[in-house]
Amino acid sequence: MTARVVATLLLLASPVLIAQTPSANRPKMPSTTQDPAAVHRSALVIDTHADTPQRFLDEHFDLADPLNGGDLNLDSIHNGNLGAEFFSIWVEPKLYKGQYARRTLELIDSVKQQVARHPDQIQFVTSPEGIEEAHRNHKFAALMGIEGGHSIENSIPLLRQYYALGVRYMTLTWSNSNDWADSSGDINDTSIPHTKEGLTEFGKDVVYEMNRLGMMVDISHVADATFYRTLRISRAPVIASHSGARALCDAPRNLTDDMIRAVANYGGPNSKGGVVQVNFFSGFVSQAYWDAMKAQQPEIDKAIADAKEMAKAEGREFKYADEDKIQRAFAGKIPRPPLSMLIDHIDHIAKIAGVDHVGLGSDFDGVNGQLPEGLDSPADLPKITAALMARGYSADDCRKILGGNLLRVFREVEQVAKELQAQDRPRITEKQPGEKARK
Ligand SMILES: [Zn+2]
Repeated sequence: MTARVVATLLLLASPVLIAQTPSANRPKMPSTTQDPAAVHRSALVIDTHADTPQRFLDEHFDLADPLNGGDLNLDSIHNGNLGAEFFSIWVEPKLYKGQYARRTLELIDSVKQQVARHPDQIQFVTSPEGIEEAHRNHKFAALMGIEGGHSIENSIPLLRQYYALGVRYMTLTWSNSNDWADSSGDINDTSIPHTKEGLTEFGKDVVYEMNRLGMMVDISHVADATFYRTLRISRAPVIASHSGARALCDAPRNLTDDMIRAVANYGGPNSKGGVVQVNFFSGFVSQAYWDAMKAQQPEIDKAIADAKEMAKAEGREFKYADEDKIQRAFAGKIPRPPLSMLIDHIDHIAKIAGVDHVGLGSDFDGVNGQLPEGLDSPADLPKITAALMARGYSADDCRKILGGNLLRVFREVEQVAKELQAQDRPRITEKQPGEKARK
């Protein structure tokens, strides 16, 4: 979910957190003996963000269908050796106001329906071992992450039930701040109440409960203050499921170098640190694209408002697919950035934080087709491996970036959960929902 977010364009003061640059893990010299295609085939490729469930639900899209304007289907998954996908459970906050839990459950069900329809090709899994097992079975592993803490409706019991249904990460916010965490999407909007320090006491409980359950804490989308507060609270390393480097493209959804190093260095005493999964969205990859989008925004907003009016007059629901059409029409006017610019983000993060702390978070089916040149579906993922190897990344480095790093963090999150469960201690506070501090 990105293109829709751009209405709010914010530059944020960046707080300082002391972080060291890992000295190891520099890319090695190019290998002359290894074929990038073979290296790609040897990898367990994991992508941490695709918004295809909107299509399952609203367009009755089936993964066996042709792409038909979308970014991800079974053919492209097989052609690009995509081993696992975290399907995004994203509830549009305005459209589904008052029905967040219902929509969340329907999206979760839509993923499970796909698995049920294609048991020979897809395996629903909820753990690192599950991902590996599906891979051994030559099946595509389907996982789920919730995008936006508003889905839990300020209820720890709901959070626990989402975990029980198989959700394995939660992005604390989407582009909307909720009652307990602030978003980069509206942090500068003074008409919206914000927390005092990025997370309320209840928000801290949410992070703690996620740690205790073994649900990965995802800091993509959150406001900078929420990012730093979350790192101080979380007992486990965190992930950014779909974010790039702000040094290369100055969008608030991207992470500063300080934040990237903080993700890499943060975790418990024995932690190897978290991972930043790079978003493919052209607007977060290329500064020129981002600037062109900003310039278009008033026109896009107007077109969407008009279309909403028209839908209302015709007595039909305005859906994400309707907005997607408008976004695509405008996007078509901006030249796509080259794939090399996406590789620049991966390379930048690997250089400043270490090759153990970067991965892939495509945002397929969430960016209105606004993807770099030549990167239209998972079938094009081998091009990323080839480009990395051309820049001197070894086969091992590539396998880490393609999925190994995420698997390591996922394992560590589960280990921390086991330790916390063994301690059987209460949450940080026992305060309950909705206690939003107002400025
Ligand atoms: Zn998103």
